[in-house]
Amino acid sequence: MSNVPEYFGSMVFNDEVMKERLPKETYKALKKTVYEGKVLDISVANVVANAMKDWAVEKGCTHYTHWFQPMTGITAEKHDSFISSTDEGGIIMAFSGKELIKGEPDASSFPSGGLRATFEARGYTAWDPSSFAFIKEGVLCIPTAFCSYGGQVLDKKTPLLRSMEALNTQALRILRLFGRTDVNRVVTTVGAEQEYFLVDEEMWKQRKDLIYTGRTLFGAKPPKGQEMEDHYFGAIKPRVQAFMTELNEELWKLGILAKTEHNEVAPAQHELAPIFADSNLATDHNQLTMEMMKKVARRHKMVCLLHEKPFAGVNGSGKHNNWAMSTNTGINLLDPGKTPHENAQFLLFLCAVIKAVDEYQDLLRLSVATAGNDHRLGANEAPPAVVSMFLGDELTDILKSFEEKREYNGREMVELEIGVDVLPHFPRDTTDRNRTSPFAFTGNKFEFRMLGSSLSIAGPNITLNTIIAEELEQFADYLENADDFKKALNHLIRKTIREHKRIIFNGNGYDEAWLREAQERGLSNLTCTPEAMVHFSDEKNIKLFTKHRIFTEVEIRSRQDIMMENYSKTINIEALTMLEMLRKEIMPAAYSYIREVSETANAAKTLCPDITCESELKMVSRLSSLASALYTKTDLLEKAVHDAHEYEGQVTKQAQYYHDYVFAAMQEARAVADEIEMIAGEKYWPYPTYGDLLFGV
Ligand code: ADP
Ligand code: MG
Repeated sequence: MSNVPEYFGSMVFNDEVMKERLPKETYKALKKTVYEGKVLDISVANVVANAMKDWAVEKGCTHYTHWFQPMTGITAEKHDSFISSTDEGGIIMAFSGKELIKGEPDASSFPSGGLRATFEARGYTAWDPSSFAFIKEGVLCIPTAFCSYGGQVLDKKTPLLRSMEALNTQALRILRLFGRTDVNRVVTTVGAEQEYFLVDEEMWKQRKDLIYTGRTLFGAKPPKGQEMEDHYFGAIKPRVQAFMTELNEELWKLGILAKTEHNEVAPAQHELAPIFADSNLATDHNQLTMEMMKKVARRHKMVCLLHEKPFAGVNGSGKHNNWAMSTNTGINLLDPGKTPHENAQFLLFLCAVIKAVDEYQDLLRLSVATAGNDHRLGANEAPPAVVSMFLGDELTDILKSFEEKREYNGREMVELEIGVDVLPHFPRDTTDRNRTSPFAFTGNKFEFRMLGSSLSIAGPNITLNTIIAEELEQFADYLENADDFKKALNHLIRKTIREHKRIIFNGNGYDEAWLREAQERGLSNLTCTPEAMVHFSDEKNIKLFTKHRIFTEVEIRSRQDIMMENYSKTINIEALTMLEMLRKEIMPAAYSYIREVSETANAAKTLCPDITCESELKMVSRLSSLASALYTKTDLLEKAVHDAHEYEGQVTKQAQYYHDYVFAAMQEARAVADEIEMIAGEKYWPYPTYGDLLFGV
């Protein structure tokens, strides 16, 4: 397919298609609804539904689905056909406005953290007209929100839309203060860079750990890893290139602006970056991107691994959430701008982000906490579990000069005069250090780098939007009531820098010394998921989310429980998979090899009784003692898993137990198994090694 513009978005019921197929009045009414976030009138919905159905049927669809994002983090769909019977006994293809607006999936099997049990048994889905409908594999997909009949939110889209709304409201108040009456909407924008691994399908099929858990639970380090750094931006292999080409085509048809593709640091690791979109669309698109990556890989006899840490000792996969705020007039509010007026406004928005990140470190940290991501954060390739912010030397210096009322670049930084040249032009920081920062300013946007590769970006963006909306609200409250705007603005910016500069760190985030310094600065260091997640329901966080009507207290507590349970379930599945592999594959492999070596020694002795068989005996003895150690570790792991049941019903305690005991026992068993793998004969080993997997595509 060479004519990209022709098929780009060809599977999307987008603005262009709507303009073409909807009566003018209907189109206008729909746009108005989207813009004002109102409920769609049923007569309008009927016309839209019919046009949507005609369009989809022309493209070969027979079914539609309400496509939604339950709290599992992946997307869900239940297919219904357009077929309706007529009075005459025939059939027609029909789709009503009612069916478009509202669907009723059987919600009982989606996690709700007890919400549905407490309130209503059923949930419903409601069309989100701000994200376009699209066709995926012959099915018309309608992006929807998912709620319970009691009004409780059961998905990730609804709170995301609410958080965007909260930020819009507060950002507009600030813009009014700067006299910007031309702006009437502020949206948050996101570009999510996605990392992933590709492995050969045949090899994947031989590894229970990859099949059940998405990561390798065993595996000795291969002779060659990523130390030569020859993979990053290296030549792309033909099989991978064919995959990328097809993936791009599929994504382009869905209107997803996949732009760059390159190899990553680790062998077999790659990255895809889209052009940014508003947070809602970017979230839908990232979910679709992950889904298509998995599907297209299988067509090329490969498997796409989206786990955060598929291989120990090799870089894991993350997702970079590039975030900014943009006005409907096309201005990026995180762009320092060229005029002093823009400069002052920029500094205020920047201060809101600084204050938000400092005051809600815990929320940002827990928004990316999963069992899989625990392997990355704090390990050697990703940002540490400590949240800090990179601004670059120039910008940091400007803030400091301003705080201390001293000179910067030969200019007295005393008063931020709106209308007088204040900020010198500062270049983008060109150093590479921001690669180690969890939250880096990259010239006109922030890059939140702590996300794991498989995570839905909804959670982190709900958090970002809400905490920044909160700070903007505080700023607006203060400034709107000030007698002298300019004076108040100066005071506010200076005060914010003084009180929150501890969160700014431009050094190397991987450095041990930084962890000590961070502790001295009083920054939080939540090292694992159970430890981070309990803070969701801290009083200050409940206050924040309820105040901005993002979540109710009940919703927060139930979400916290769901995420804790998720953690425990993940570790439990991993531990059970490990036990199965240990008992059914690894121990038998070790015994076979011991027997082979013993038999060799026996045979040799029979032939020549004088032979000492020293090496065979050493090998048998070494393998035997390792096998014996492994046997003990396996029993200990089994016991740890068994004892976890004692905490049934106590989600927090159970998650902490899984971390402290089960996960710890897994690590110990693995260490011994990997040692056996290193010395056992290759043909005895029951599954492909790291070398096979990493260099086998
Ligand atoms: P790099 O990080 O390699 O310098 P870019 O800065 O161009 O590359 O972009 C990285 C990602 O950030 C891309 O997905 C891009 O679309 C996204 N991005 C760029 N500008 C914005 C913005 N204003 N808001 C959100 N995301 C953005
Ligand atoms: Mg990046």
